[in-house]
Amino acid sequence: KYYIWLCYLEIVVLFDSQKQEVIIIAVTDKVAVAKIIEELQKNDFYHFKFAVNGAEIYKITRTYYENPDSIGLIIVSEDLPDCQIKELCLSFSHDDGGVFIPVIVLQKELYSDDDRKLDSRHLIYHLKEHYSPIEMQITADFLICLKNEKYLRYKQQKRLLTELAERKLIDAKLQYLSAHDQLTGLLNRSSLEQHIQLTLNRNSNRSFSQDSSLYSTLLFIDLDRFSLLNELEGFDAGDRLLIEIISLIRSSLNNTGLFARIDSDKFGLYLENIPLKQATILSDNIKIALDNFRFVIGTIAYNITTSIGFSSFNFINPIQHPQELISQAHQACCIAKTYGGNTVWKYDIEDSAVKKRHRDIYWVPIIRDALIKKNFFLVFQPVVNLNNGEVSHYEVLIRLRDTDGTVIGPSEFIPAAERMGLIHGIDLWVVESAIDYLAALPIDRSHIALAINLSSVAFKDASLLPMIKQKLEMTGIRGERLTFEITETAAVENYEEIRSMINHIRALGCRFALDDFGAGFCSFNYLKNFPVDYVKIDGQFIQNLAKDETDQMLVLAMQQIVKKMGKKTIAEFVECPKTIKILRDMGINYGQGYIFGKPSEHLLERNVIQSEDITAINPEFSNAILPIQ
Ligand code: C2E
Ligand code: CA
Ligand code: CA
Repeated sequence: KYYIWLCYLEIVVLFDSQKQEVIIIAVTDKVAVAKIIEELQKNDFYHFKFAVNGAEIYKITRTYYENPDSIGLIIVSEDLPDCQIKELCLSFSHDDGGVFIPVIVLQKELYSDDDRKLDSRHLIYHLKEHYSPIEMQITADFLICLKNEKYLRYKQQKRLLTELAERKLIDAKLQYLSAHDQLTGLLNRSSLEQHIQLTLNRNSNRSFSQDSSLYSTLLFIDLDRFSLLNELEGFDAGDRLLIEIISLIRSSLNNTGLFARIDSDKFGLYLENIPLKQATILSDNIKIALDNFRFVIGTIAYNITTSIGFSSFNFINPIQHPQELISQAHQACCIAKTYGGNTVWKYDIEDSAVKKRHRDIYWVPIIRDALIKKNFFLVFQPVVNLNNGEVSHYEVLIRLRDTDGTVIGPSEFIPAAERMGLIHGIDLWVVESAIDYLAALPIDRSHIALAINLSSVAFKDASLLPMIKQKLEMTGIRGERLTFEITETAAVENYEEIRSMINHIRALGCRFALDDFGAGFCSFNYLKNFPVDYVKIDGQFIQNLAKDETDQMLVLAMQQIVKKMGKKTIAEFVECPKTIKILRDMGINYGQGYIFGKPSEHLLERNVIQSEDITAINPEFSNAILPIQ
């Protein structure tokens, strides 16, 4: 059951028509006061205060200090004791203070023309003591109206002013923010550029006396492994570190230089017009101070190091634009990083490292463009079973088609892509394209398998494994049809991480090969536990195998150890029939090289290489030795 209660509310609104303004009557004549009150009450004024001298008026008004607008009007007779009427009027009609209390001065006579008019600026009105009854009512109403109007305007103006002030404050804040970095309060990159520009302007001004021994130097300071600390300890710790580092660097600077934050953990220190030697000492000091610093979190103390790039200019060795200096210092810093960090590197256009860096930078837009415009393409090179001539699989190698149609090999752009952080995009593209290629092959070629080169960076990215998995599922390609090649150097670099990723990918059925074996560390120790199916012996040991006995000994040793580990060997750069024979005699399992086929956009017609295939490819080898029993 539901009960519905209905309530009736009676609302009584009391209208109060009485005017709230306080009227101060400062008149000593009692009859006159009574008359005033009578007239004003007719006009609904009820709040009256009385004063008998000037001091009392001030005393009453003081109690309304908080809300001066509630005083409506002062009626004062000109002969009030201790009262300077003029002064009184002025003190209550103070524009700036916002107090506009109108004053009616009762006087025996109106003496001048001024007395007859309303002084609207100060709200003073003169009335003859013998005013007509209605005259007091109208004047009071009118003055209070004016007062209210003035007060309202004053308040609006005041609000506007505060708003403006706030706006100004916000503007100033915005201006500060746009010039400074929020976390550290340092200047940001664009303000740094502006400061450099100022020096450039000064340098180009010939009338300015200049000293050729003074240089302006930018130090590009980049913390080593900052992202690792961020990852391990979280962003708050990262922020705290940055702030601690900044105060540390500041204290080693003795207030020289202009400090700016260029990017997350990258800072610029701009030292204007100082001798090169001093800038060098300062940058070394910063490096040493940071190296000695320990960033403590709980029980762990991190050793923080930094790479510093150093670039200078003056009016004799000028730069064209502030960005040029930042870019030079940045390049020098990147080179410092490639030397393992904790290094100061000076930019020098003649420096071979700088030249290499320039080449790297040259490749960046080309590689980005190629990924978008599909200028990359794949070629395939057979890997042949040396025992029976069967094509085991094909190695997939990337090529770049230049705008003029020429084909560029990977050794030109892969190293640059690795250094410039673009290799990952290439790796993913190759994996996707290779699987698509397999999926598009006719059914009678469903035994074809491919080997794909991966850079070590590819393993650092969590998206590689799910991407391979998804791609295999979507296309229905079996994992066994893919082998991934990873170089020995890359594998050693990040051993544990890569090992675990390899195991995950192998769980999909894919195989792994250790590429360029022998070219790098050649450590059999870790190879023992490295989960690969094939070891590819580096081409430098194979190319001259037929003639070089040392190579023969080395290759044989590698073969024997790898075999013991239960892995298969592949020899690359097999270029002549004699090498095939030596390799086969040694027990090497597979061969790859120009003798079997150069990398090509097309797969071989046959799945087993015959002697005549070899002679067909290489007419100079009329007596090739395949197939072999
Ligand atoms: P790699 O993986 O050691 O590839 C073998 C290189 O040797 C290939 O050069 C191949 O064309 C060349 N080669 C094959 N047989 C012979 C031979 O008999 N004699 C000689 N002199 N050379 C031979 P390429 O295609 O220029 O590739 C160079 C390197 O670039 C590769 O070395 C590999 O490290 C990298 N690379 C190639 N394609 C890719 C790719 O798709 N992704 C990644 N990350 N790297 C790739
Ligand atoms: Ca390879
Ligand atoms: Ca290789």
